[in-house]
Amino acid sequence: MGEIVLNRITKSFGDVSVIPPLDLTIADGEFVVFVGPSGCGKSTLLRLIAGLEDSSSGAIRIDGKDATALPPAQRGLAMVFQSYALYPHMTVRNNIAFPLKMARMDKAAIDRKVEAAAKVLNLTSYLDRRPGQLSGGQRQRVAIGRAIVREPTAFLFDEPLSNLDAALRVNMRLEISELHASLGTTMIYVTHDQVEAMTMADKIVVLNAGRIEQVGSPIELYNRPCNRFVAGFIGSPR
Ligand code: ADP
Ligand code: MG
Repeated sequence: MGEIVLNRITKSFGDVSVIPPLDLTIADGEFVVFVGPSGCGKSTLLRLIAGLEDSSSGAIRIDGKDATALPPAQRGLAMVFQSYALYPHMTVRNNIAFPLKMARMDKAAIDRKVEAAAKVLNLTSYLDRRPGQLSGGQRQRVAIGRAIVREPTAFLFDEPLSNLDAALRVNMRLEISELHASLGTTMIYVTHDQVEAMTMADKIVVLNAGRIEQVGSPIELYNRPCNRFVAGFIGSPR
């Protein structure tokens, strides 16, 4: 569970091609980072996978099933955004429970799942607070908690840490890596930050103007960048 395959996927906005035909396979359980400069199409690619944008052509398979035309709610994926998108008037508990309430899960099961997620994320003592009473890092954890309770087949993160200060970013990187290690769920993580990519990824996908320049592990990209763009971007001395 958690394999995602993109087959000749493209995206244009009007006449402007943002993603030329692109193939990519993400294995079950992998931590994959999409990295590249601002405007290169990272968010668009993630939104295509999430179903928040329709592809112009091509196909997406999730766990072997054709997901190309499925609405976001039926893809089994959970997206975590940079702007936490929490409900300010709801407690942490209710923010995390929200997707389960929408799915009409029974209350005892909801409480169990919310408390398990809160434990993993060190939010247990904050469940009755509102987002306004939390730090940026805690708010981001609540957003992740709301994704965890859905038990998605994959997590999609779009620059989730870019609103946090540098020290907290380093902490949250570690927490997300630990979360990946404990859940074992596929994660796709978008960032323009090379350090984030190099420290978190099993596999890095380097994007440039919607194209994949290279796919490989951090060490492969560092030691054997396939061109100057990758070398310059990853910071290796080619
Ligand atoms: P990144 O996340 O890598 O910064 P995006 O995926 O947001 O890049 O954007 C890639 C390109 O697609 C940019 O040139 C952007 O202006 C364009 N783009 C993104 N969304 C839209 C849209 N809804 N309409 C028109 N152009 C868009
Ligand atoms: Mg973006």
